[in-house]
Amino acid sequence: MKIGVVGCAGRMGQNLVKEIFKTKGCEFSGGTEGPKNAALGEDMGVHLGLPECGKIITEDTEGLFMASDVVIDFTLPKVTAKHLKFAQKHGTSVILGTTGHDENEYLFIKEAAENVAIVKAMNFSIGVNALFALTEQLSNLLDDNFDVEIFEMHHKHKVDAPSGTAIALGEAAAKGRSVDLSDVGVRGRDGITGARKKGEIGFTSLRGGEVVGDHSVIFAGESELIELTHKASSRGIFSKGAVFAALWTGEQLPGLYSMLDVLGFTKNS
Ligand code: NAD
Repeated sequence: MKIGVVGCAGRMGQNLVKEIFKTKGCEFSGGTEGPKNAALGEDMGVHLGLPECGKIITEDTEGLFMASDVVIDFTLPKVTAKHLKFAQKHGTSVILGTTGHDENEYLFIKEAAENVAIVKAMNFSIGVNALFALTEQLSNLLDDNFDVEIFEMHHKHKVDAPSGTAIALGEAAAKGRSVDLSDVGVRGRDGITGARKKGEIGFTSLRGGEVVGDHSVIFAGESELIELTHKASSRGIFSKGAVFAALWTGEQLPGLYSMLDVLGFTKNS
């Protein structure tokens, strides 16, 4: 399968290309970068400290979608629409790892998925997707005498908060209780906030160092507490999942899929 990477010189981009290089059944069809990026014009292999691979990093986004069966996008929310227009024009599937989309951007993604297969996940790791499933189950099992709090910590470069994964964990907890996260989610407590209301789902974000991604879901009851925790120690877990999803799209009709679909976790829920 021919797999391209937009934003190939980014932290995730580089990791994704390395994963494509070492995965059976994958051919790296090329990579793009944003305007004025220092990596433009370099050979992708050389950029990664590997032998030349013959693919020069360019700004030719349309050319990349044309040359690829699937394109992996871990870039910025504001460029997603441009990428999805090219995907629809050339029938290219998309693996969308970028987080932080607003409502309009999300609607555009949903519309594009009527024409091409898109796998969108806030987190492509297998462990975190198991955590989504467990969070929903536990939240369904326990009533709102257990207070749900979600904690996340990421590296100092991350620009959005709470993390997309933390929000998705909040959605899983809300789904388990058959409530809407927009009604019960509470972010960024500060000052005299008053006592915690029953049924709230709270979020706390920490930023610092080079932490790849820590997430905990806490169910705090009276005299007992359950904590589900996932710690990512390498970006490789996201790249592995994203490349696995890219290979999976080969069989799929247009539609908006999650990593739970790719892993088959939705079949049992
Ligand atoms: P990064 O800043 O290191 O990389 C983003 C890259 O995109 C940069 O190299 C930038 O130059 C490039 N870019 C910007 N505009 C572009 C354009 N128009 N065309 C091509 N490239 C362009 O960031 P990162 O740490 O790699 O994270 C990228 C995104 O992926 C973030 O939204 C992050 O939250 C998300 N992320 C998701 C997962 C997941 O599993 N879903 C995991 C890790 C990171």
